[in-house]
Amino acid sequence: MTLSTLARLVASGAAVSKADLVQAAGLARTTVSSGVDELLDRGVLRVVGTRPTPGRGRPADRLALSPRGGHVLVADLGAHGAHLAVVDLSQTLRAHVHIDIDVAEGPDAVLAAVESQLRALQARASGGAPARAVVIGVPGPVDGQHGVPVRPPIMPGWHAYPVAARLRRTFGCPVLLENDVNLRALGEARALPADQVPLLFVKVGTGIGGGLITSAGELHHGVDGAAGDIGHIRVRGGSDVRCVCGNVGCIEALASAGAIARRLGAEGAAEASVAEVRALVARGDPTVLRLVREAAELIGEVVATLVHFYNPARVTIGGSVAAASDDLLAGIRSVVYQRALPLATRNLVLANSVLGEFAGVAGAAVLGIERVLSAGGIGTLMEAGG
Ligand SMILES: [Zn+2]
Repeated sequence: MTLSTLARLVASGAAVSKADLVQAAGLARTTVSSGVDELLDRGVLRVVGTRPTPGRGRPADRLALSPRGGHVLVADLGAHGAHLAVVDLSQTLRAHVHIDIDVAEGPDAVLAAVESQLRALQARASGGAPARAVVIGVPGPVDGQHGVPVRPPIMPGWHAYPVAARLRRTFGCPVLLENDVNLRALGEARALPADQVPLLFVKVGTGIGGGLITSAGELHHGVDGAAGDIGHIRVRGGSDVRCVCGNVGCIEALASAGAIARRLGAEGAAEASVAEVRALVARGDPTVLRLVREAAELIGEVVATLVHFYNPARVTIGGSVAAASDDLLAGIRSVVYQRALPLATRNLVLANSVLGEFAGVAGAAVLGIERVLSAGGIGTLMEAGG
């Protein structure tokens, strides 16, 4: 337990020396000292230079995770593409590739492609070190306990498919299955200063999803993992619009990039794909921008409600439409500041994602490294090093 705590504090950047660790972990100096020595002996930590200490003491060793301990494989799946990456335990991105996929083709075809590409990346970038964890994000609700998607509306054939069990067989290490927006929320929160939590991440893409980070910097899953699944909140004016979930009037059915694409078709323009919507937004097409501003108003109302309920320090807007233009953010912001009461917005930052489409990879890397260094996981690492 102590070794896990020390290693995670170093991995997170909260501590880089023994003195930092004494303070951050609240442990006795001798406990920290022998723990760090053991982690150094086993090759979990390494010394990467020194840093001056205040006063006349000798400079302190600067500690970091050793990349020799192994790596985490990351697969961040969207509806139409996937970011795959190899990240070592010192949080360095060793290799990355983006591939086209279509989650609608079902789990067998998609996961076979993901596995073969991950193997290729691993062969190129791992330097012979073993995979210690795989983290996979999917655009739908998941049961993280059992590692299965749960009735994901845009992923036909994936319900209850044993995603984690399959990848565990393929790569021979623990596998974490997460919702894609949760991964983005975590990546974003850990890339920002510590005062930017609680954080609510709202992704506006093919669908609309949310992820919640608590004031402790951790993901809030709720009892069944459904927390943050905001796409199916009902909004005004959509009683005739059916959603993929089977209900009518969901925010996702009215204000996502997918909904904007469908509305373009309904208004007589050629029906566009989500990628085309993004391109039209970036080009400043007036019809699409009007639809984006209407969508922003509806999303703004939902965000204002969530801000009241959760009082976050930051709301991050992500996804393809937000990345293409500031109109979505500006529209959401004006509704939120109009509708929410001053106490809930006094310290609120409402901004576009700082990591953009890489937020998911960053969050997955954080999650995977924390799993490897957890009290239950660090034993395997120690055996390998000793
Ligand atoms: Zn719905």
